[in-house]
Amino acid sequence: MSSGRGAASRLRAAGWLDEPLPQVRLSIEVFPPKSPEATERLWQNLELFAATGPRFLSVTCGAGGSGESGTFPLAVAIQARFGVPVAAHLTCAFAPRAEIDALLERYRAAGITRIVALRGDPPKETGPYRPRPDGYAYAVDLVRAIQRMGGFEVSVACYPEVHPEAPSAAFDLDNLKRKVEAGAVRAIGQYCFDTDRILRFRDAVARAGIACEFVPGIMPIHSFSQIRRFSAACGASIPTWLADLFEGVPEGSALHGMIAATVVTEQVRRLAAAGFEAIHVYALNRAELPLAIVQILKAARQGAAG
Ligand code: FAD
Repeated sequence: MSSGRGAASRLRAAGWLDEPLPQVRLSIEVFPPKSPEATERLWQNLELFAATGPRFLSVTCGAGGSGESGTFPLAVAIQARFGVPVAAHLTCAFAPRAEIDALLERYRAAGITRIVALRGDPPKETGPYRPRPDGYAYAVDLVRAIQRMGGFEVSVACYPEVHPEAPSAAFDLDNLKRKVEAGAVRAIGQYCFDTDRILRFRDAVARAGIACEFVPGIMPIHSFSQIRRFSAACGASIPTWLADLFEGVPEGSALHGMIAATVVTEQVRRLAAAGFEAIHVYALNRAELPLAIVQILKAARQGAAG
Protein backbone atom coordinates (compact mmCIF):
# COMPACT_ATOMS: atom_id res chain seq x y z
CA MET A 1 0.00 0.00 0.00
CA SER A 2 1.40 3.43 -0.91
CA SER A 3 1.70 6.36 1.50
CA GLY A 4 -0.61 9.38 1.21
CA ARG A 5 2.37 11.44 0.08
CA GLY A 6 3.12 9.04 -2.79
CA ALA A 7 -0.50 9.07 -3.93
CA ALA A 8 -0.50 12.88 -3.89
CA SER A 9 2.60 13.11 -6.03
CA ARG A 10 1.15 10.59 -8.50
CA LEU A 11 -1.99 12.72 -8.75
CA ARG A 12 0.14 15.77 -9.44
CA ALA A 13 2.07 13.92 -12.13
CA ALA A 14 -1.23 12.99 -13.80
CA GLY A 15 -2.22 16.67 -13.80
CA TRP A 16 -4.53 18.02 -11.13
CA LEU A 17 -6.22 21.42 -10.98
CA ASP A 18 -3.35 22.92 -8.98
CA GLU A 19 -0.87 22.00 -11.72
CA PRO A 20 0.86 25.18 -12.97
CA LEU A 21 0.28 25.74 -16.67
CA PRO A 22 2.00 28.03 -19.15
CA GLN A 23 0.14 31.07 -20.40
CA VAL A 24 -2.35 30.24 -23.16
CA ARG A 25 -4.02 32.85 -25.36
CA LEU A 26 -7.55 32.14 -26.54
CA SER A 27 -9.18 33.14 -29.78
CA ILE A 28 -12.96 32.85 -29.67
CA GLU A 29 -15.18 32.18 -32.69
CA VAL A 30 -18.75 33.44 -33.05
CA PHE A 31 -21.23 33.45 -35.93
CA PRO A 32 -23.61 36.15 -37.22
CA PRO A 33 -26.91 35.67 -35.35
CA LYS A 34 -30.18 35.20 -37.21
CA SER A 35 -32.80 36.81 -34.94
CA PRO A 36 -33.07 39.98 -32.83
CA GLU A 37 -33.09 37.84 -29.63
CA ALA A 38 -29.99 35.94 -30.71
CA THR A 39 -28.32 39.22 -31.62
CA GLU A 40 -28.97 40.66 -28.18
CA ARG A 41 -27.64 37.52 -26.47
CA LEU A 42 -24.55 37.54 -28.67
CA TRP A 43 -23.69 41.15 -27.79
CA GLN A 44 -24.02 40.35 -24.08
CA ASN A 45 -21.62 37.44 -24.55
CA LEU A 46 -19.24 39.45 -26.73
CA GLU A 47 -18.96 41.95 -23.90
CA LEU A 48 -17.87 39.09 -21.61
CA PHE A 49 -15.46 37.67 -24.21
CA ALA A 50 -13.91 41.06 -24.90
CA ALA A 51 -13.35 41.60 -21.17
CA THR A 52 -11.17 38.46 -21.04
CA GLY A 53 -8.61 40.01 -23.39
CA PRO A 54 -8.83 37.43 -26.19
CA ARG A 55 -6.05 37.03 -28.70
CA PHE A 56 -8.74 37.75 -31.29
CA LEU A 57 -12.44 37.23 -31.84
CA SER A 58 -13.31 35.58 -35.13
CA VAL A 59 -16.58 35.82 -37.05
CA THR A 60 -17.66 32.95 -39.29
CA CYS A 61 -18.96 33.32 -42.79
CA GLY A 62 -21.96 31.39 -44.17
CA ALA A 63 -21.20 28.60 -46.61
CA GLY A 64 -22.99 30.48 -49.37
CA GLY A 65 -20.58 33.41 -48.98
CA SER A 66 -22.67 35.57 -46.61
CA GLY A 67 -19.68 37.78 -45.86
CA GLU A 68 -21.23 40.89 -47.26
CA SER A 69 -24.47 40.68 -45.30
CA GLY A 70 -23.53 38.90 -42.06
CA THR A 71 -19.83 38.64 -41.33
CA PHE A 72 -18.68 42.03 -42.51
CA PRO A 73 -20.99 44.25 -40.43
CA LEU A 74 -20.56 42.08 -37.32
CA ALA A 75 -16.76 41.99 -37.57
CA VAL A 76 -16.60 45.76 -38.08
CA ALA A 77 -19.03 46.41 -35.22
CA ILE A 78 -17.12 44.18 -32.77
CA GLN A 79 -13.84 45.88 -33.58
CA ALA A 80 -15.40 49.34 -33.24
CA ARG A 81 -17.16 48.60 -29.96
CA PHE A 82 -14.47 46.70 -28.07
CA GLY A 83 -11.23 47.56 -29.85
CA VAL A 84 -10.17 43.90 -29.70
CA PRO A 85 -8.46 42.24 -32.68
CA VAL A 86 -11.05 40.69 -35.00
CA ALA A 87 -10.58 38.06 -37.70
CA ALA A 88 -13.18 37.72 -40.44
CA HIS A 89 -13.75 34.28 -41.96
CA LEU A 90 -14.01 34.36 -45.74
CA THR A 91 -15.23 31.42 -47.82
CA CYS A 92 -14.30 31.52 -51.46
CA ALA A 93 -16.07 28.70 -53.24
CA PHE A 94 -19.46 30.19 -53.98
CA ALA A 95 -18.83 33.67 -55.30
CA PRO A 96 -16.98 35.03 -58.32
CA ARG A 97 -13.40 36.13 -57.74
CA ALA A 98 -14.32 39.78 -58.36
CA GLU A 99 -16.89 39.69 -55.56
CA ILE A 100 -14.42 38.18 -53.09
CA ASP A 101 -11.75 40.72 -54.07
CA ALA A 102 -14.20 43.59 -53.56
CA LEU A 103 -15.14 42.27 -50.11
CA LEU A 104 -11.47 42.03 -49.18
CA GLU A 105 -11.00 45.67 -50.19
CA ARG A 106 -13.93 46.62 -47.95
CA TYR A 107 -12.38 44.71 -45.04
CA ARG A 108 -9.11 46.49 -45.55
CA ALA A 109 -10.81 49.89 -45.74
CA ALA A 110 -12.65 49.08 -42.49
CA GLY A 111 -9.40 48.16 -40.74
CA ILE A 112 -10.08 44.41 -40.54
CA THR A 113 -6.81 42.90 -41.67
CA ARG A 114 -7.06 39.40 -40.18
CA ILE A 115 -8.72 36.90 -42.49
CA VAL A 116 -9.46 33.20 -41.94
CA ALA A 117 -9.33 32.00 -45.55
CA LEU A 118 -11.56 29.03 -46.29
CA ARG A 119 -13.08 27.14 -49.17
CA GLY A 120 -16.51 26.53 -47.59
CA ASP A 121 -18.88 23.64 -48.19
CA PRO A 122 -21.66 23.25 -50.76
CA PRO A 123 -25.20 22.78 -49.39
CA LYS A 124 -25.89 19.06 -48.87
CA GLU A 125 -28.59 18.95 -51.56
CA THR A 126 -26.22 20.11 -54.34
CA GLY A 127 -23.93 17.09 -54.04
CA PRO A 128 -20.11 16.97 -54.04
CA TYR A 129 -18.12 20.18 -54.37
CA ARG A 130 -17.32 21.42 -57.87
CA PRO A 131 -15.25 24.58 -58.33
CA ARG A 132 -17.00 27.34 -60.27
CA PRO A 133 -15.03 28.54 -63.31
CA ASP A 134 -14.97 32.21 -62.23
CA GLY A 135 -14.11 31.47 -58.59
CA TYR A 136 -11.19 30.64 -56.31
CA ALA A 137 -11.42 26.85 -56.36
CA TYR A 138 -9.67 26.01 -53.08
CA ALA A 139 -8.56 27.86 -49.98
CA VAL A 140 -5.00 27.92 -51.31
CA ASP A 141 -6.18 29.97 -54.31
CA LEU A 142 -7.83 32.45 -51.95
CA VAL A 143 -4.69 32.70 -49.81
CA ARG A 144 -2.65 33.47 -52.94
CA ALA A 145 -5.12 36.17 -53.98
CA ILE A 146 -5.02 37.76 -50.51
CA GLN A 147 -1.23 37.73 -50.55
CA ARG A 148 -1.22 39.43 -53.94
CA MET A 149 -3.39 42.20 -52.47
CA GLY A 150 -1.09 42.52 -49.46
CA GLY A 151 -1.73 43.96 -46.02
CA PHE A 152 -3.59 40.99 -44.48
CA GLU A 153 -2.64 38.38 -41.89
CA VAL A 154 -4.06 35.06 -43.06
CA SER A 155 -5.12 32.01 -41.08
CA VAL A 156 -6.33 28.79 -42.67
CA ALA A 157 -8.11 25.62 -41.54
CA CYS A 158 -6.46 22.28 -40.85
CA TYR A 159 -7.76 18.89 -39.86
CA PRO A 160 -6.18 16.64 -37.19
CA GLU A 161 -8.64 13.91 -38.28
CA VAL A 162 -8.13 14.64 -42.03
CA HIS A 163 -10.62 16.65 -44.10
CA PRO A 164 -13.47 14.31 -45.16
CA GLU A 165 -12.96 14.95 -48.90
CA ALA A 166 -9.18 14.50 -48.87
CA PRO A 167 -8.00 11.36 -50.69
CA SER A 168 -5.42 10.73 -47.95
CA ALA A 169 -3.88 12.22 -44.81
CA ALA A 170 -0.70 12.92 -46.79
CA PHE A 171 -2.64 14.84 -49.46
CA ASP A 172 -4.41 16.86 -46.79
CA LEU A 173 -1.17 17.71 -45.03
CA ASP A 174 0.34 18.70 -48.36
CA ASN A 175 -2.68 20.94 -48.93
CA LEU A 176 -1.91 22.65 -45.60
CA LYS A 177 1.70 23.04 -46.65
CA ARG A 178 0.62 24.71 -49.91
CA LYS A 179 -1.63 27.10 -47.99
CA VAL A 180 1.24 28.06 -45.71
CA GLU A 181 3.68 28.43 -48.62
CA ALA A 182 1.06 30.71 -50.20
CA GLY A 183 1.26 32.99 -47.17
CA ALA A 184 -0.89 31.71 -44.29
CA VAL A 185 0.79 32.24 -40.93
CA ARG A 186 -1.58 30.23 -38.78
CA ALA A 187 -3.46 26.92 -39.13
CA ILE A 188 -6.54 26.67 -36.94
CA GLY A 189 -7.57 23.10 -36.23
CA GLN A 190 -10.98 21.59 -36.76
CA TYR A 191 -12.18 20.52 -33.31
CA CYS A 192 -11.10 17.06 -32.29
CA PHE A 193 -12.02 15.39 -29.02
CA ASP A 194 -9.08 12.98 -29.21
CA THR A 195 -6.25 15.01 -27.68
CA ASP A 196 -3.60 12.42 -28.55
CA ARG A 197 -4.63 12.79 -32.17
CA ILE A 198 -4.10 16.56 -31.95
CA LEU A 199 -0.63 15.96 -30.53
CA ARG A 200 0.20 13.47 -33.31
CA PHE A 201 -1.04 15.98 -35.88
CA ARG A 202 1.25 18.65 -34.40
CA ASP A 203 4.16 16.24 -34.82
CA ALA A 204 3.13 15.49 -38.42
CA VAL A 205 2.96 19.23 -39.22
CA ALA A 206 6.46 19.70 -37.79
CA ARG A 207 7.84 16.62 -39.63
CA ALA A 208 6.40 17.94 -42.90
CA GLY A 209 8.33 21.18 -42.35
CA ILE A 210 5.17 23.28 -42.36
CA ALA A 211 6.31 26.64 -41.06
CA CYS A 212 3.25 28.06 -39.37
CA GLU A 213 1.62 28.23 -35.99
CA PHE A 214 -0.82 25.35 -35.37
CA VAL A 215 -3.66 26.39 -33.07
CA PRO A 216 -5.89 23.51 -31.95
CA GLY A 217 -9.65 24.09 -32.04
CA ILE A 218 -11.80 23.27 -29.04
CA MET A 219 -15.53 22.68 -29.20
CA PRO A 220 -17.33 23.18 -25.88
CA ILE A 221 -20.36 20.86 -25.84
CA HIS A 222 -23.38 23.02 -25.10
CA SER A 223 -25.59 20.36 -26.69
CA PHE A 224 -24.27 16.86 -27.25
CA SER A 225 -26.91 15.98 -29.87
CA GLN A 226 -26.01 19.12 -31.85
CA ILE A 227 -22.30 18.26 -31.71
CA ARG A 228 -23.09 14.73 -32.87
CA ARG A 229 -24.83 16.17 -35.94
CA PHE A 230 -22.03 18.68 -36.62
CA SER A 231 -19.41 16.00 -36.26
CA ALA A 232 -21.08 13.66 -38.74
CA ALA A 233 -21.09 16.52 -41.26
CA CYS A 234 -17.53 17.79 -40.77
CA GLY A 235 -15.66 14.53 -40.25
CA ALA A 236 -14.85 14.95 -36.55
CA SER A 237 -15.26 11.71 -34.65
CA ILE A 238 -17.13 11.19 -31.39
CA PRO A 239 -15.03 8.84 -29.27
CA THR A 240 -16.89 6.13 -27.36
CA TRP A 241 -15.76 7.52 -24.01
CA LEU A 242 -17.37 10.86 -24.89
CA ALA A 243 -20.67 9.29 -25.99
CA ASP A 244 -20.66 7.22 -22.79
CA LEU A 245 -20.21 10.36 -20.67
CA PHE A 246 -23.36 11.94 -22.14
CA GLU A 247 -25.37 8.68 -22.31
CA GLY A 248 -28.82 9.29 -20.77
CA VAL A 249 -27.97 12.86 -19.74
CA PRO A 250 -30.82 15.25 -20.61
CA GLU A 251 -29.93 18.14 -22.92
CA GLY A 252 -30.05 21.48 -21.12
CA SER A 253 -29.76 19.90 -17.66
CA ALA A 254 -27.27 21.05 -15.04
CA LEU A 255 -25.70 17.57 -15.28
CA HIS A 256 -25.10 18.05 -19.02
CA GLY A 257 -23.37 21.36 -18.28
CA MET A 258 -21.18 19.82 -15.57
CA ILE A 259 -20.02 16.99 -17.80
CA ALA A 260 -19.39 19.38 -20.69
CA ALA A 261 -17.34 21.66 -18.42
CA THR A 262 -15.27 18.72 -17.22
CA VAL A 263 -14.58 17.53 -20.78
CA VAL A 264 -13.62 20.93 -22.15
CA THR A 265 -11.47 22.10 -19.26
CA GLU A 266 -9.67 18.77 -19.11
CA GLN A 267 -8.86 18.96 -22.82
CA VAL A 268 -7.68 22.54 -22.57
CA ARG A 269 -5.51 21.73 -19.57
CA ARG A 270 -3.94 18.80 -21.43
CA LEU A 271 -3.21 20.96 -24.45
CA ALA A 272 -1.72 23.70 -22.28
CA ALA A 273 0.41 21.15 -20.46
CA ALA A 274 1.56 19.83 -23.85
CA GLY A 275 2.91 23.28 -24.70
CA PHE A 276 0.25 24.90 -26.87
CA GLU A 277 0.42 28.65 -26.33
CA ALA A 278 -2.82 29.40 -28.18
CA ILE A 279 -6.17 27.66 -28.48
CA HIS A 280 -9.18 28.49 -30.67
CA VAL A 281 -12.60 28.10 -29.03
CA TYR A 282 -15.71 27.43 -31.12
CA ALA A 283 -18.06 29.31 -28.81
CA LEU A 284 -21.20 28.89 -30.95
CA ASN A 285 -22.24 32.26 -29.49
CA ARG A 286 -22.52 30.80 -25.97
CA ALA A 287 -20.47 32.12 -23.09
CA GLU A 288 -20.59 29.69 -20.14
CA LEU A 289 -18.08 27.08 -21.25
CA PRO A 290 -15.64 29.47 -22.96
CA LEU A 291 -15.59 31.52 -19.75
CA ALA A 292 -14.96 28.36 -17.72
CA ILE A 293 -11.90 27.74 -19.91
CA VAL A 294 -10.68 31.31 -19.37
CA GLN A 295 -11.12 30.98 -15.61
CA ILE A 296 -9.35 27.61 -15.34
CA LEU A 297 -6.40 28.86 -17.36
CA LYS A 298 -6.22 32.09 -15.38
CA ALA A 299 -6.29 30.22 -12.08
CA ALA A 300 -3.60 27.81 -13.29
CA ARG A 301 -1.37 30.77 -14.24
CA GLN A 302 -1.92 32.45 -10.90
CA GLY A 303 -1.01 29.15 -9.25
CA ALA A 304 2.16 29.07 -11.32
CA ALA A 305 3.07 32.60 -10.26
CA GLY A 306 2.24 32.08 -6.56
P1 FAD B 1 -9.31 23.54 -48.62
O1 FAD B 1 -8.05 23.80 -47.91
O2 FAD B 1 -9.50 24.14 -49.98
O3 FAD B 1 -9.48 21.94 -48.70
C1 FAD B 1 -10.74 21.35 -48.99
C2 FAD B 1 -10.54 19.93 -49.47
O4 FAD B 1 -10.05 19.93 -50.78
C3 FAD B 1 -9.53 19.12 -48.65
O5 FAD B 1 -9.98 17.79 -48.60
C4 FAD B 1 -8.27 19.23 -49.46
O6 FAD B 1 -7.38 18.18 -49.17
C5 FAD B 1 -8.84 19.20 -50.87
N1 FAD B 1 -8.06 19.87 -51.90
C6 FAD B 1 -7.28 20.96 -51.79
N2 FAD B 1 -6.78 21.28 -52.99
C7 FAD B 1 -7.25 20.40 -53.88
C8 FAD B 1 -7.12 20.20 -55.29
N3 FAD B 1 -6.36 21.01 -56.04
N4 FAD B 1 -7.78 19.18 -55.86
C9 FAD B 1 -8.56 18.35 -55.13
N5 FAD B 1 -8.72 18.48 -53.80
C10 FAD B 1 -8.09 19.49 -53.19
N6 FAD B 1 -16.97 26.96 -43.23
C11 FAD B 1 -17.78 28.01 -43.53
O7 FAD B 1 -18.64 27.88 -44.40
N7 FAD B 1 -17.67 29.20 -42.89
C12 FAD B 1 -16.73 29.42 -41.93
O8 FAD B 1 -16.65 30.51 -41.36
C13 FAD B 1 -15.87 28.34 -41.58
N8 FAD B 1 -14.91 28.49 -40.66
C14 FAD B 1 -14.04 27.46 -40.38
C15 FAD B 1 -13.02 27.66 -39.46
C16 FAD B 1 -12.15 26.63 -39.16
C17 FAD B 1 -11.04 26.88 -38.16
C18 FAD B 1 -12.30 25.36 -39.77
C19 FAD B 1 -11.39 24.22 -39.41
C20 FAD B 1 -13.31 25.15 -40.70
C21 FAD B 1 -14.19 26.20 -41.03
N9 FAD B 1 -15.19 26.06 -41.99
C22 FAD B 1 -16.02 27.11 -42.28
C23 FAD B 1 -15.38 24.78 -42.68
C24 FAD B 1 -14.63 24.71 -44.04
O9 FAD B 1 -15.17 25.61 -44.95
C25 FAD B 1 -14.79 23.27 -44.55
O10 FAD B 1 -14.12 22.39 -43.71
C26 FAD B 1 -14.42 23.06 -46.01
O11 FAD B 1 -14.90 21.76 -46.38
C27 FAD B 1 -12.94 23.07 -46.31
O12 FAD B 1 -12.41 24.30 -46.18
P2 FAD B 1 -10.81 24.49 -46.30
O13 FAD B 1 -10.58 25.95 -46.26
O14 FAD B 1 -10.12 23.63 -45.32
O15 FAD B 1 -10.60 23.95 -47.78
